[in-house]
Amino acid sequence: MKPPAACTGDALDVAAPCSAVNHLRWDLNAQQIAELTTELIEQTKRVYDRVGTQEPQDVSYENTLKALADVEVSYTVQRNILDFPQHVSPSKDIRTASTEADKKLSEFDVEMSMRQDVYQRIVWLQEKVQKDSLRPEASRYLERLIKLGRRNGLHLPEETQEKIKSIKKKLSLLCIDFNKNLNEDTTFLPFTREELGGLPEDFINSLEKTEDEKLKVTLKYPHYFPLLKKCHVPETRRKVEEAFNCRCKEENCAILRELVRLRAQKSRLLGFSTHADYVLEMNMAKTSQVVATFLDELAQKLKPLGEQERAVILELKRVECEQRGLAFDGCINAWDMRYYMNQVEETRYRVDQNLLKEYFPMQVVTRGLLGIYQELLGLSFQLEEGAAVWHEDVALYAVRDAASGKLIGKFYLDLYPREGKYGHAACFGLQPGCLRKDGSRQIAIAAMVANFTKPTPDAPSLLQHDEVETYFHEFGHVMHQLCSQAEFAMFSGTHVERDFVEAPSQMLENWVWEAEPLLRMSQHYRTGSSIPQELLDKLIKSRQANTGLFNLRQIVLAKVDQALHTQTAADPAKEYARLCQEILGVPATPGTNMPATFGHLAGGYDAQYYGYLWSEVYSADMFHTRFKQEGVLSGKVGMDYRSCILRPGGSEDASVMLKLFLGRDPKQDAFLLSKGLQVEGCEPPAC
Ligand SMILES: [Zn+2]
Repeated sequence: MKPPAACTGDALDVAAPCSAVNHLRWDLNAQQIAELTTELIEQTKRVYDRVGTQEPQDVSYENTLKALADVEVSYTVQRNILDFPQHVSPSKDIRTASTEADKKLSEFDVEMSMRQDVYQRIVWLQEKVQKDSLRPEASRYLERLIKLGRRNGLHLPEETQEKIKSIKKKLSLLCIDFNKNLNEDTTFLPFTREELGGLPEDFINSLEKTEDEKLKVTLKYPHYFPLLKKCHVPETRRKVEEAFNCRCKEENCAILRELVRLRAQKSRLLGFSTHADYVLEMNMAKTSQVVATFLDELAQKLKPLGEQERAVILELKRVECEQRGLAFDGCINAWDMRYYMNQVEETRYRVDQNLLKEYFPMQVVTRGLLGIYQELLGLSFQLEEGAAVWHEDVALYAVRDAASGKLIGKFYLDLYPREGKYGHAACFGLQPGCLRKDGSRQIAIAAMVANFTKPTPDAPSLLQHDEVETYFHEFGHVMHQLCSQAEFAMFSGTHVERDFVEAPSQMLENWVWEAEPLLRMSQHYRTGSSIPQELLDKLIKSRQANTGLFNLRQIVLAKVDQALHTQTAADPAKEYARLCQEILGVPATPGTNMPATFGHLAGGYDAQYYGYLWSEVYSADMFHTRFKQEGVLSGKVGMDYRSCILRPGGSEDASVMLKLFLGRDPKQDAFLLSKGLQVEGCEPPAC
């Protein structure tokens, strides 16, 4: 199919001159962070004060809308300099100062978002300006500010506004603490070598030891996931799974209850019956009813597949118990799930993950990944030697448009775990790609932060295939940040609808399931040979392994999130346990409280976790409709993708971008097929 005409052409905004400056710095000490925070608040507040005191007749585009847009650009950059170190700084003092700064700035954000005087000037401006006299993006910005003002209750009586403000302040502090508690968790469990049976030598050798020579297993991802997948001692898996889902149990459980209560209270003040409805108004889904229907229908369709898969892993467990002389309890426990799902991959699909990872040394994967992205999106990356970074493990790259040579942005890669570091994989936008005050285009800068297996003196960092997938996923967000060419910071990069934001990065996960790109990102770490064809075929087939159980688990998480934000009285742990049993058929471990460890609930995904599944509808459609048809490494489709999906950032509605790229409205077929489900009148995708 031909791409729509509107997609073609130069993907770069040639109109604005480029400002190639990296405004970020990472050399601040704790005291400087505190001082600059105060300074930033004062400077920014002055701009708001100026805007908020304009006389009605003086209100203009320049002195309200543009003034607010300009201060947003500089504020965002400065704020990131101050609050990003809490996630990555190697110094505890700096992390603490940065968290403190974040709290102060979050409180300030609430203050500014609740400025009725400023809102009033924007309303006057809207009444005054001719709609078509504004550029489309400026007009969108104006409408968005009014919408956000109303969503903060600035059109309501002052007393209500005060209540909302106080709730918002409490909420932001609670969210920071919730995730801080998880990041700073240093729990470890000591085990003997025998208790870690089944784990590979390089894993065992990488573990630190306790004074009595036991091996320390932490609850960070590079320990938790391999152990749950490979350790054949059920009691060890049970202990680790239990500890993992008991992290910060007391403190985060209390925070979560308070979060849920306050969110519901605020939404009611704003005239919404639930917090979910308040949040979803801004998303593609629009209402909690639409989300519930989407999740229920999908759960219904996946149920038979999940039951089949559960029967298969139960049989694997029975056989193993017999072989190892263990008592068979006749059910799949939470700590058995990953272990036997991994066995399905290894026995049914015959993918030996330990052998496979020998083909994924970090450097080869990085080289392959960067190469594929450059080719696909028409970009070129250069490592900046000796760049100022926050830790020696971090690398900085410059990104240029390959055709014009124009610098469009930079990205940091921070890939290995450290104590006190952010515990998941994520992309942080640090400098928004948008227009600056003088009309020049500011380059976009983002950081990818992850926790991949670290190299040891005798073994390089070898990635599990799912780590390679995570790498592609997060890097997809990085590309979204860098390739967007919005005018306003508010619409830069990944500032799209929350239930669409995952689609671009999910789509790019497809490359780790296709032969050609896989061969480009792999090479045996000792022999330098390629992945043998047979292993490659098996790996690609194994994408269908456990789809039922995996997606049902995603539905459980999405439904827990929806439940908490539609029925305030729901008990998080009980609700989770109920849904696990009902949908997944696997009980939650007694005494655990998974929701207290569920960072998304306090990380901007409240009532929006369903977005992972929802946006997969679009990622599958985009991949199968265009890339699979025209070539997975087709630079032409890649450029269309960059122009139609990445370039607009949030300056267009996702539905408009999708229609442009697909040449029609999106549909669910490719998504359902990718989950191993039948779709009437459709052939399954060749894989
Ligand atoms: Zn993501």
